[in-house]
Amino acid sequence: MAPEKPIKKVCTYSFISLEFADKYQIIIVGAGPAGLLLGILLAKQGINITILEANTELDKNPRAAHYASIAIQEMRRAGILEDVQKEGYIPEGICWREFDGTYIAGIRSHVDDPDVMVCLPLDKLLRLYYRHFQKESTGELLWQHKVVGIEQDEGEARVICETPEGTKTLGADYVLGCDGANSQIRKSLFGKEYPGETLHSQIIATNVSLLKRSEGRNLTCL
Ligand SMILES: Cc1cc2nc3c(=O)[nH]c(=O)nc-3n(C[C@H](O)[C@H](O)[C@H](O)COP(=O)(O)OP(=O)(O)OC[C@H]3O[C@@H](n4cnc5c(N)ncnc54)[C@H](O)[C@@H]3O)c2cc1C
Repeated sequence: MAPEKPIKKVCTYSFISLEFADKYQIIIVGAGPAGLLLGILLAKQGINITILEANTELDKNPRAAHYASIAIQEMRRAGILEDVQKEGYIPEGICWREFDGTYIAGIRSHVDDPDVMVCLPLDKLLRLYYRHFQKESTGELLWQHKVVGIEQDEGEARVICETPEGTKTLGADYVLGCDGANSQIRKSLFGKEYPGETLHSQIIATNVSLLKRSEGRNLTCL
């Protein structure tokens, strides 16, 4: 059910006075890349963070692999860029090919740029984010907490979650929705009328490791 007025306690973290950071309790909904990175950034300021994740583990599906400069800048701000670069690699460029390996088009990377793109499959990046989040004493992640609704009053914002122990209501100063493309928080705030469109096509994604390239054209994949 949509609240009568939208939750006002949704903000960017630069809004929070760091002097009182440890007094704040923030709930982040979703342990995807957005929720975990935001969790690290906020917890590093001493803010108490609880991430609620519907699933039992981090998403392992093949999705993102390359992160552009705007994401790189946030990783640096969170103090984890060096680890991301160590675990992944900086490609000389990216390109699109036919199934048989024939080159179609590509973009070269400026490898000397400090914000240069980094390549690391998202499932590995998520595990790296989670390791860093776990180091923060003011951060906790609760698995199997699926948020199904929100409430608020003058004192706090609340989320209603389905958990293996039954329905729970958790309160905080702010609730941040990082629950992805089908966001329950977005639906609770704006109903079904949120602008946008659904892609009526299927995308099939997989990660492949290229073992060798011979004669510049044929690629052997794992
Ligand atoms: C095939 C493909 C390739 C892509 N390639 C790239 C790329 O190369 N580079 C790039 O930058 N981006 C890429 N993207 C986009 C990128 O994957 C997404 O932008 C990114 O995953 C969004 O992160 P998020 O944290 O907002 O949401 P999500 O990754 O969707 O994470 C949301 C999390 O919230 C949890 N959740 C959902 N609902 C609830 C609920 N009600 N209660 C509690 N938890 C909930 C989910 O279980 C999930 O863990 C790609 C996407 C696809 C599909």
